[in-house]
Amino acid sequence: MSRRIPAPKVLPETLAYWQAADAGRLLVKRCTACGEHHHYPRDICPFCWSEATEWREAAGTGTVYSFSTMGQGEAAYTLAYVQLDEGPVMMRTLVGAVPASWTVGRRVREVFAPREGGHAVPVFEPA
Ligand SMILES: [Zn+2]
Repeated sequence: MSRRIPAPKVLPETLAYWQAADAGRLLVKRCTACGEHHHYPRDICPFCWSEATEWREAAGTGTVYSFSTMGQGEAAYTLAYVQLDEGPVMMRTLVGAVPASWTVGRRVREVFAPREGGHAVPVFEPA
């Protein structure tokens, strides 16, 4: 049994991100002025305030930065901050492993699950 995840709200600034997620691709924003990647997607770079940002496809791999497991037994689920290999940190649900097996530093990869009434929601599983 898996926990139901509500459909995401989509803004014009994040539409390309969700359309790519529906196609199984992970996009992150990159600033062409300073070279930094960022997430969540913004039109203005949070590092140098440049408007020169572009979409880049991320590898979809990263490392568990921190995590917390809620609930018990079959109802338990784990939320985590995952640091992508490109640099940005994302809050995501972890799937595909029992909660007690998660560790900080564990390698993970992004997968996309369709949700009722909305775009695919990215989650991470063990790499
Ligand atoms: Zn920048």
